[in-house]
Amino acid sequence: MTSPAAAGNIADRIRQVKKELPASVRLIAVTKKFPAAVVRMAYEAGIRDFGESQVQEAEQKQAELADLADITWHLIGHLQSNKARKAIAQFQWIHSIDSLKLAQRLDQIAAELGRSPQCCLQVKLAPDPAKYGFTLPELMQALSALNQLRHLQMVGLMTIPPYGLPAAETQAIFDQLRQLQADINQQKHSQLQIKQLSMGMSGDYPLAIAAGATMIRLGTQLFGSRTL
Ligand SMILES: *Cc1c(COP(=O)(O)O)cnc(C)c1O
Repeated sequence: MTSPAAAGNIADRIRQVKKELPASVRLIAVTKKFPAAVVRMAYEAGIRDFGESQVQEAEQKQAELADLADITWHLIGHLQSNKARKAIAQFQWIHSIDSLKLAQRLDQIAAELGRSPQCCLQVKLAPDPAKYGFTLPELMQALSALNQLRHLQMVGLMTIPPYGLPAAETQAIFDQLRQLQADINQQKHSQLQIKQLSMGMSGDYPLAIAAGATMIRLGTQLFGSRTL
């Protein structure tokens, strides 16, 4: 854990970012590797959407923050099957659905728990050994089966461009995700009405917004570096 930026500093950064955001873009504050106290500071500065990468790390913070009842928690990291039940119980949004098998498992658990989380399908649009996600052909092939799921609200697409790409290539990936949204919606699967594009992190969010992002996920930009 890094030592968090001071509260005033965090509030200033949040204000600064919000000032630039079109009203159509939802800001998700990514608090992975930052303690619950930092979540609380961001909450006091008006943030209600928080992103965490790991179920277990989130669980501890959520317990400490149980008094903040109107937080919406977003799972943004790869989810292992054995954490699926906790993920459904703890998160209102899951941005990182990266396989049909995971989607089917989550759907089954959501049914059991009487939940209906909002979900994004994570798509890998450029080769990247470090990133999870459906490849484009995998996703197109899975659409009919995904359309059978009744307990997940499949409302979005999410992508993470490979780290360090030139801006033009990053922009092209974001444009591709928006095009994919149009392609999927055109197929008129009743359960796959894609309204959200979850794309854009600290290093690239202006490009993502220009390409039509509706949700951006910012950590470093709001809270400083996670690395010591
Ligand atoms: C860590 C993380 C972010 C935030 O990254 P920053 O570069 O710190 O803004 C966004 N999305 C995902 C999936 C992440 O894992």
